[in-house]
Amino acid sequence: MSNFEGKVAFVTGAARGQGRSHALAFAEAGADLVLCDRCEDSPVVRYPLATEDDLAETVRLAEAAGAKVVSEKLDTADRAAMDRLVARAHDEFGRIDIAVANAGVSTAAPVQSMPQAMWDETISSNLTGVFNTIAAVSPGMIDRGYGRIVTISSMLGRAGNTNMVAYGASKWGVIGLTKSAALDLAQNGITVNAIAPGNISTPMIHNDALYGMLRPDLENPTADDVAPVFASLHAQPVPWLEPAEITRAVLFFCDEAAAHISGTVLPIDAGNAARVT
Ligand code: NAD
Repeated sequence: MSNFEGKVAFVTGAARGQGRSHALAFAEAGADLVLCDRCEDSPVVRYPLATEDDLAETVRLAEAAGAKVVSEKLDTADRAAMDRLVARAHDEFGRIDIAVANAGVSTAAPVQSMPQAMWDETISSNLTGVFNTIAAVSPGMIDRGYGRIVTISSMLGRAGNTNMVAYGASKWGVIGLTKSAALDLAQNGITVNAIAPGNISTPMIHNDALYGMLRPDLENPTADDVAPVFASLHAQPVPWLEPAEITRAVLFFCDEAAAHISGTVLPIDAGNAARVT
């Protein structure tokens, strides 16, 4: 396992799911942490987002693993709040070495009837939030001539799908943002790479709203009922992957040994990458 002793890692959307998995892996590998999550539901997201208790639990687990933690409830779309958190982290730790722009929401509606508020929420959380993360951490990284930034796109950042105009646009946008930021920061010892996950077993996919959309023929579909539908989105016969699979790639990109990998997109999607560009 990589050693992140003495490093400071910033993870957005860290209250649960993939973000919690990344945060705890960095803590176990010796890093101190800067964590945030919005910890509030959105009127246009049809499943519950994380809670303040979830974020507190991530902090508790990270501290139990030996990390010092700075954490805040904030929306990554709020640039001023992101700048304040980064300034606080610099005061407490002196720097941020690693940033994982993980926070995001999933929304679904056809283009002809997507409410404007749903489009705005999706672009704010999934694209502007990633820009804000990179923009907030990069000046300090430039000062120290070192940084590792990982963004989280999706297999829907490489293809289209029905009902996915906003989510797909945001995740394609993350790839364009990642590649351009990688070039802006290439002279400064900073790498920027994207991961494009397939279906990952978190509350973003395990919720009544999505289950109902995937199996409209059933009154109360269960995980077993939706598993074949999820599996059809992958090439390998698996409905979903565990967050730890994404975490391993995040740690790989942040390792010293990945110093000369930048501007790339790594699909972790059970073979669906073979079907798209
Ligand atoms: P999740 O819903 O469990 O976690 C997302 C976290 O981000 C939640 O804790 C939520 O409260 C937080 N969040 C959302 N919007 C925020 C904002 N504007 N500011 C701060 N925090 C915010 O889902 P997850 O699967 O862990 O998602 C992590 C990332 O992976 C997301 O970017 C998602 O789009 C991406 N992704 C997920 C899947 C999947 O199948 N689960 C697939 C591809 C990509």
